[in-house]
Amino acid sequence: MPSAEHPVRTLGRDLMARYGRRLRRVMLDLGLTCPNRDGAKGYGGCIYCDVSGSGTGAARQRQSLEQQWQQGLARARKVNPQGPAAILYFQSYSNTYPDLEPLQQALAQMRRWADCAPILAVGTRPDCFSPEAAQLLAEQRESFAEVWVEFGLETTDAEVQRRIARHDSLESFHRACVLAGEFGLKRICHTMAGLPGERPDGLLRQVEEAARAGVEGIKFHQLMVLRRTQLAKMWVNNEVELLSPDVYVRMVADALELLPASVVVHRLVAEAPPEEYLAPSGWPPRAKVHSMIEHEMQRRGSLQGIKKPQAEACG
Ligand code: SF4
Repeated sequence: MPSAEHPVRTLGRDLMARYGRRLRRVMLDLGLTCPNRDGAKGYGGCIYCDVSGSGTGAARQRQSLEQQWQQGLARARKVNPQGPAAILYFQSYSNTYPDLEPLQQALAQMRRWADCAPILAVGTRPDCFSPEAAQLLAEQRESFAEVWVEFGLETTDAEVQRRIARHDSLESFHRACVLAGEFGLKRICHTMAGLPGERPDGLLRQVEEAARAGVEGIKFHQLMVLRRTQLAKMWVNNEVELLSPDVYVRMVADALELLPASVVVHRLVAEAPPEEYLAPSGWPPRAKVHSMIEHEMQRRGSLQGIKKPQAEACG
C-alpha cells in the first residue's frame, strides 16, 4: 500500500511484492488497424496517433512475431536471467479489431512462453471489445497467471473526443470495463493529460471514472507531438498548447490523490522514440519526471487515494 516513503503504488513495486522481481514489457505489434483508421469510424486516426498505431511499428518493418518476442526477451533476460522475465504486451492499434483471428493465432503461438512471461496484456479500444474478445482473453488464463486488458479512455468529455477525432465514448469505456470484469480480466485505463479543449480538471474526471469503473490499473500519459500525426500539423500552426513538466507533475499528483490505493499505477509519464518526438521540448527524462511526481506527493504529505472520488462505485 502507498506509504510516506512510497506514496504511489507503482507497477514496479507491485510486481516486486507479488513476483519478487520486475518484469519487462515485451511490446508486440500485429500490424493491425483500428476503426479510426480504416474508415469504419474515421480515417487518419486520433490526432496524436502516428502511423504505427501508438506502437513499435515492428510489423511494418516486417519483423515476425517470433523475432519481436526473441528480441524483447533478450532485453528482459538482462534483468532476470532465469525464470519469469517479461510481460507479453500486444500494444499497437486495436488488437481485437477488425476480428479476433490475428490475435487468436498470435496467442496460440505465444502461450508456450508463459513460463517466461506470466502476464499477458492486450490493448484495445473500448468500442472494439466484444463478449467474444472477453472470452478469448479469459481462456488465456489457462496458460498465463494474469491477463490484463488495456482500454483507452483519454477524456471524459464528448466535445474533446470530437476535437481529437477519437470517435469513442465514456459510455463505451464503462461498458467494456463491466464486460472485462465479468470475465475476470484485469482492466487498465489509459488516461491522457493536456488534450486540446480539455478542461483543467480533465485528468481528475478521468481518474474518477476509472475508479467508478473499478479498474485494477491505470496509465498516465502527457500529450506529446509525434511526427506524422495530425497534431504535428496543428503544432506547426501554433494551434495547440502543451503542458510544462511542472504543471503535469501537479496535475498527476492531484489525480493520484483521488485514485484508490488499490489501483496499480502502470505508468506515471510517457516517452517516445527521439526520432519520432517533436514536442513539448525541455522535459526531463522519464525517470526524473517520475521522481518529481513522487516528491510532489511527499512535499504535500500526501498519498495515492488520500481523497475520495466524488463518483460512486458502479456495478
Ligand atoms: S484508437 Fe488507438 S490505434 Fe486507433 S488512431 Fe486512436 S490511438 Fe491510434
